[in-house]
Amino acid sequence: MLKAAISFLLISFHFIASAQAKSIVFEAKEAEKIIKVLAADSMQGRKAGTQGCEKAALFIASEFQHIGLQPIAGGQFLQTFNLKPGQSLSGEGPKLNNVVGILPGKTKPGEFVIFSAHFDHLGVGVPENGDSIYNGANDDAAGTTAVIMLAQYFKQLANNDRTLVFAAFTAEEIGGFGSQYFSKQFDPAKVVAMFNIEMIGTTSKWGKNTAYITGFEKTDMGKIMQKNLKGTAFSFYPDPYPEQQLFYRSDNATLARLGVPAHTISTAKMDDEKYYHSVEDEVETLDLNNMVQIIKAIAESSRTIIAGNDTPTRVPALK
Ligand SMILES: [Zn+2]
Repeated sequence: MLKAAISFLLISFHFIASAQAKSIVFEAKEAEKIIKVLAADSMQGRKAGTQGCEKAALFIASEFQHIGLQPIAGGQFLQTFNLKPGQSLSGEGPKLNNVVGILPGKTKPGEFVIFSAHFDHLGVGVPENGDSIYNGANDDAAGTTAVIMLAQYFKQLANNDRTLVFAAFTAEEIGGFGSQYFSKQFDPAKVVAMFNIEMIGTTSKWGKNTAYITGFEKTDMGKIMQKNLKGTAFSFYPDPYPEQQLFYRSDNATLARLGVPAHTISTAKMDDEKYYHSVEDEVETLDLNNMVQIIKAIAESSRTIIAGNDTPTRVPALK
């Protein structure tokens, strides 16, 4: 009888949980809470190798733990590595940390889908109008916020067939060393898609409910994403700034060079992004309502890839 009561309770909890899952929404308030921590002055601009950056890493790790992601080998969310001589200004560099959490796939655990962003930024500079901290709210606390919110979402949804990997990279701004180290911990053949998220806090050149995908023509991943958004108010476009070579300038590039369909999603107006790499890149300049629509669109557009129904074509190997 007790057993029956317990299983009844468990079943009820299960129903409550799935009822909640169906009503999961992406709230601007939640995005604001996370991005304000990451872009706070106390993080000192999150320059790789500084205390401020490590503080941000610990915050992201605590979010991943709270969400209930699985840690990587060693029971840690921090993926620690050393810069090699020549990668930093002072010989053997300091220890740096990526932050990585896993949601194991239900039916295809050996196939990975990655959601990523870099959390490091430019640190502290020369004061301009009394401000010297590069808060990097858009670049890329915004993308990091998206990664945390996507982890929350997919954990609650609890139906991912493929394994989801949530990665926050350090050292993008000083040479992409975080994603380079990360990419060596995987067999690239097992990674079926990477959604890298960079600067989604402002509206794109097409206005609200839009973003672009770098390297759109290199695989059919963008087309799959567009297909999954049919009938919604949101549109993904090919990168309108091909001359800027954005595909090879962000953290997706390391895995893309290994053949992985790895693209960056962004709204940054590369010809007109007022606060790009300035001390004025602050949370107050962002459109968080639009940003959560982008995060939601990323979640929806990845649906069939996560379910194993769609597998994007590979990036042709560079010779
Ligand atoms: Zn960036």
